[in-house]
Amino acid sequence: MDRRDFLKGTAMTAATLAASRLAYGQDKAAGTPPAAAPAGQGVQWNKAPCRFCGTGCHVQVGVQNGKVVAIAGDQQAPVNKGLLCVKGYHVGLALYGSDRLTTPLLKKGDTHVPISWEEAIDIVARRVLKDPKGFGLYGSGQWTIPEGYAASKFVKGGLGSNQLDANARLCMASAVTGFLATYGVDEPAGCYDDLDACDVLIMWGNNPAEMHPVLFSRVIDRRSRGEKVTLIDIGTRKTRTSGFCDHSLRFKPNTDLAIACGIAHLLVENGTYDKAFVEANCAFRAPSEPAALEGKAITFEEYRELLEPYTPEKVEELSGVPAKDLRMLADLFGRRDVRITSLWCMGMNQHTRGTAINNLVHGLHLLSGHFGKPGDAPTSLTGQPSACGTVREVGTLAHALPGGRVVAKAEHRAQMEEIWNVPKGRLHDKPGYHTLEMWKRFSTPTEQGGDIHTIWVQVTNPAQTLPNTHKLVDPSRKLADKFLIVSDVYPSATARIADLILPSAMWVEKNGMVGNSERRTQQWFKMVKPPGQARDDAWQLIAVAHRLLELGFEGMKDKDGRFLFEVKGKDGKPVPLWDFAHYYDVNVDEHLFEEYRKTTRIKHKDLAPYQEYVKARGLRWPVVQQPDGSWRETRFRFAGFDDPYVKKGRDIQFYHSTTHDDRAQIWFSPYEPPPESPDAEFPFWLCTGRVIEHWHSGTMTMRIPQLQRAMPQAYVEMNRADARRLGVGNGDQVTVETRRGKLDLPVWIGGRGEPPEGSLFVPFFDERLLINWLTLDEHDPFSKQPDYKKCAARVRRRELVAEKQG
Ligand code: SF4
Repeated sequence: MDRRDFLKGTAMTAATLAASRLAYGQDKAAGTPPAAAPAGQGVQWNKAPCRFCGTGCHVQVGVQNGKVVAIAGDQQAPVNKGLLCVKGYHVGLALYGSDRLTTPLLKKGDTHVPISWEEAIDIVARRVLKDPKGFGLYGSGQWTIPEGYAASKFVKGGLGSNQLDANARLCMASAVTGFLATYGVDEPAGCYDDLDACDVLIMWGNNPAEMHPVLFSRVIDRRSRGEKVTLIDIGTRKTRTSGFCDHSLRFKPNTDLAIACGIAHLLVENGTYDKAFVEANCAFRAPSEPAALEGKAITFEEYRELLEPYTPEKVEELSGVPAKDLRMLADLFGRRDVRITSLWCMGMNQHTRGTAINNLVHGLHLLSGHFGKPGDAPTSLTGQPSACGTVREVGTLAHALPGGRVVAKAEHRAQMEEIWNVPKGRLHDKPGYHTLEMWKRFSTPTEQGGDIHTIWVQVTNPAQTLPNTHKLVDPSRKLADKFLIVSDVYPSATARIADLILPSAMWVEKNGMVGNSERRTQQWFKMVKPPGQARDDAWQLIAVAHRLLELGFEGMKDKDGRFLFEVKGKDGKPVPLWDFAHYYDVNVDEHLFEEYRKTTRIKHKDLAPYQEYVKARGLRWPVVQQPDGSWRETRFRFAGFDDPYVKKGRDIQFYHSTTHDDRAQIWFSPYEPPPESPDAEFPFWLCTGRVIEHWHSGTMTMRIPQLQRAMPQAYVEMNRADARRLGVGNGDQVTVETRRGKLDLPVWIGGRGEPPEGSLFVPFFDERLLINWLTLDEHDPFSKQPDYKKCAARVRRRELVAEKQG
């Protein structure tokens, strides 16, 4: 099976791909554009990254008569080399759902009524003025880099508050804290090239065959060429990925920490760890009391002692993974003649011990020296197209500032005050509320401490994606002084309950830049007009900032009295960006990006000038200028043969080490029981996740007929033994219930995946079946990322519930 066959066969058939072409009205003559993508047959082709996942495939977008009429894989793109998954082939249709939002809508009584943009912008500005500190902006890893940067400047540089957080808190935050605690700087050292060079690929609670299919196809392609790549799946349920694996290990939820400790135990006890690598490059760390992200330093002997209880037999008892499989994993890590790549995503990050398990997996690679060579790397994938670029790099989390800075450090604040040319002391030193806290306070009456009065949501859908929505979202809708503003392209679950809805432009209806999972920054230009009065999210922020200025809010001026977002035109005069008719008189993205670029050197995340990204299919940072004036990307960070910041003559240098001695930290973290486990009352584990056809909350993909038809609704995956015991078959309705709520769902047995006995899986894409009413809002203490992967549930045949109620 080669890459193309894999992608056709993963969940949908070739017929679906053909259907996508018909749906666009793409005739044979238009065809796939040649590599240089010239105009032909009246279709203009241009490049853009796919709108969906963090893989960062590039597509060629065919535009005719002001409409996207065709999509093709971009042959020049190193990430996907012309291939796309089923979502990517249909990405253009995401623009054309019949219910696009086209005008601002204000809630009056029970209905939303159209208002002018002028009125809408004024309402938002006055909500800010009510109490700027109680105004929260909730953004997204789908924000473009310039949008996220504008948001950060608006809230942190303009309002002087830090009430800004992004939905990457729900998917990537534990990866961030893991990288910081291990290397002192965020984002993977390796890149996708590792997939072309590894001998062993270990997927930790990760299902790339469905969630990052184009990436996974790189490995499948190698196998089809006769190369040997050993695939190992370590997960809590059987998935599409498991079917391709040489070893598929099932563990009890939460016990991945025990597995990682067990492997480390064997490496140390057998003496098969890489002593030379560890002595030259690593130090040891354990949790501290009181708990802190930095933990406490320990010696190698203390590390060995802490690992002692994690014998293969003990780990088998805890996790259910046989001792022999644990030995197999330790033997692989102990070998110097194979290259090992680890991949993970939400399975590891959405964990009450997310930081700890991230640290442990990095630690295994460091301990065994499987680091810093092509094919030897631990890499965290992202679910959103710009979770890295916009959230992690730009600093749209509540504690962060652009370029890897943090609000708590006076020197970082001073640097940003200088770049933004705002008065000293403008930036606030206290982090804002993380996502769960922001929404909790929004849903708590003001007099009881609910000090967030307004949230403006851009490019995300929290009423569907936050955990325990009964607690975090719904109550705010009954509180008269709370106000929800939503910028979106469709009437999402969140937009429908909002007080004010702002229609947004999406994807190629605006200029954009995003950063994918491998540090690759990508750029595109606006190709078609947005429908009706839909407008760019960055414009919305700038228009509100200007309205605040008109209303006398000093924060929207810099220290020379100029508008914070001032951009001068060719004539040297400020362009009235707040008037949408003039927004595209200049390339606002380029101005914002060039300003942001100044912030990226401190953590050696250097970016090239905007125009270099116009020419490229993305460049991986640090991007450093060469003596001949060209710009060179970096594939392998901290590795002497590739990273320009490693001192000459050194193989490896962890130059952002938390201990300031060029060493990375190998952590010990113990296994601990989860916050909620099955019991007599709620005997099942409930896990949530995604499916290949739908992207996250389905707001876009459910509007694409081919994808909607292929996967029309959510379901509950059950083990066949559990189904037999309950007397239910495929398609029967059951009620899934947790301590937070209940939901009726059809049963799917032996579908894509199969959970082990005692476990359930429900995807979260379906807005009519909101599984997040049921999930737990318990979260990791460091990353504040909630755990969607395990809570206690019970399941009953629906008619039995009805009888009981009756
Ligand atoms: S793998 Fe991700 S980025 Fe690539 S085509 Fe599919 S959805 Fe788009």
